[in-house]
Amino acid sequence: MLRIGCHLSSSKGYLAMGREAVNIKAGTFQFFTRNPRGGNAKAIVPSDVKDFLDFAGEHDISRILGHAPYTLNACSADEKVRDFALRAMTEDLERMEYTPGNCYNFHPGSHVGQGVETGIDLIARLLNQVLKPEQHTTVLLETMAGKGSEIGSRFEELREILDRADLKEHMGVCLDTCHVWDGGYDIVNHLDQVVAEFDRIIGLPRLKAVHLNDSMNPLGAHKDRHARIGEGHIGADAMVRIINHPAFRELPFYLETPNELPGYAREIAFLQEHYED
Ligand code: FE
Ligand code: FE
Ligand code: ZN
Repeated sequence: MLRIGCHLSSSKGYLAMGREAVNIKAGTFQFFTRNPRGGNAKAIVPSDVKDFLDFAGEHDISRILGHAPYTLNACSADEKVRDFALRAMTEDLERMEYTPGNCYNFHPGSHVGQGVETGIDLIARLLNQVLKPEQHTTVLLETMAGKGSEIGSRFEELREILDRADLKEHMGVCLDTCHVWDGGYDIVNHLDQVVAEFDRIIGLPRLKAVHLNDSMNPLGAHKDRHARIGEGHIGADAMVRIINHPAFRELPFYLETPNELPGYAREIAFLQEHYED
């Protein structure tokens, strides 16, 4: 069974997201844990979470994915920005405990001229401050496009962060198809080789989620501009091969394509149609 959904707005709460997901025939969804541009998170309403969990059980919605705000930069040169990262991620992980057993994804960060090594060190330090042995959420590092000084566009960089995390059992990776393509991994012509390289460097068991996006730019562009499925340089055929690939097909997929809900519904229907049962 193909478990696929899209990014939904969390402004109306969990139950509202669950209903939206069902309306577009999604089996999962991603949401921002707070305003994507940062700031404080809205208080969790326990009754909303409970209603959502009941609803999700009835409608087979599972494997929801929290996404950290874009402004979270664990390896900023500015201590205040790093402090925000620490505070936001600590709070977000407390919030994720209301929906235990799911994943929380974040962009590793931009080293802003301090160098990859320093960046990796700061990211690992943040993780070692926020991860707790008793948590029920898996924290995912997202593969990045390599825009500016972003860390995580090479599998080796993600591997190094994982190596330095004390509680690896709570860590995983989310592969973003637009980002890896922009990072120079040819998932159109050499999908098997890219999967083999991921397995060799990071290990496939660490892969917990896929962001399914086409890219407005050619291979290796380091731009990070998402396109609708089939309207970018990756193309619909490659997307269909990705959802059916043995390394990916059991994972949850999340669309982050430039769409409103009807557009997401069409993409979900298209991909379900092309999923080999
Ligand atoms: Fe992301
Ligand atoms: Fe993404
Ligand atoms: Zn992106």
